[in-house]
Amino acid sequence: MRTLQDLVRPNIWKLSPYSSARDEYSGHDAHVFLDANENPYNQPLNRYPDPLQREVKPLIAKHKGVREEQIFLGNGSDEAIDLVYRCFTCPGKDNVVAIEPTYGMYRVCADINDVEYRPVCLDEQFQMSANKMLAACDSDTKVIWICSPNNPSGNLIDREEIERVLMSFDGIVVIDEAYSDFSKQPPFRLEINRYPHLIVLNTMSKAWGCAAIRMGMAFANEEIIKIFNKVKYPYNVNLLTQEKAIELLRKPYDVEKWVSMLLEERSRLISAFRLLPICKKVYPTDANFFLARMTDAQRIYNYLIEKGIIVRNRSRITLCNNCLRVTIGSKTENTQLLAALRQFE
Ligand SMILES: *Cc1c(COP(=O)(O)O)cnc(C)c1O
Repeated sequence: MRTLQDLVRPNIWKLSPYSSARDEYSGHDAHVFLDANENPYNQPLNRYPDPLQREVKPLIAKHKGVREEQIFLGNGSDEAIDLVYRCFTCPGKDNVVAIEPTYGMYRVCADINDVEYRPVCLDEQFQMSANKMLAACDSDTKVIWICSPNNPSGNLIDREEIERVLMSFDGIVVIDEAYSDFSKQPPFRLEINRYPHLIVLNTMSKAWGCAAIRMGMAFANEEIIKIFNKVKYPYNVNLLTQEKAIELLRKPYDVEKWVSMLLEERSRLISAFRLLPICKKVYPTDANFFLARMTDAQRIYNYLIEKGIIVRNRSRITLCNNCLRVTIGSKTENTQLLAALRQFE
């Protein structure tokens, strides 16, 4: 079994992080702050934000059922994805294994970090075989990427297959649960105490309706979170984002309401798609989008653009020939989409 030290990039293991003024003094009893070269005017924007987001984390901990020390917050999940590479892989030497097709950022960040990316094709139902994933690994494989519910297919990856990977692979396993708020299945973030090398990603960009504020989360055991915290930029989550996140976390009923409306619309839209002569198949989904195989995805895509309606053409992606990915919108948006598709000829 590889230890955490065996998995972390050696220079990162040895790294002593930048120590900011806020790190060196973070007590609350002082009232004169002359330590950070800030401007005394223009409050509250004049002050650097809390590098460890200590007001946000207790709210997230409570909502997500994890401990504060098990939370990393970043500038979108994309920051956490990049940090996985920078903390755990050596450029030009190590490799990562990922399901295919999936979210494009895992590969882009691998390319940026000069790390070999090994895609492992899902089956026709977009399901993962743990054996195939493990067979793609060698002694330089540091990370396995799994996205569930998966983007662009929308389905949950088989729980038993994921558990098999978690039990058999002795490197880092990342499960991206960006869409788990839309699923009724128990999320893997509740399993981080059982698997010390598991990292689970969440985001406020989807169900939370806050793509603009850039708030991503990683949940993992405390030792992994400590490594992320020493590598990240000191002030990676700005004050306005932290404030907005706190506001949202104090009234999560909005999110619950949005999710239930979107799930209702998802059923309506999928039923209607199944009746369209131009739709050959709708794939099962646990997310706020679905993948549909069409008769001629490119032509339908162009036609919709002319009507001012944009969906995602996934035709050129592995296993997604002639497929469109459709995000669930508001009731009126979805109705407009259906009206346009019914007129397509
Ligand atoms: C949308 C999405 C994210 C969100 O990324 P952010 O940087 O948090 O906006 C993460 N993972 C997947 C699979 C996604 O589809």
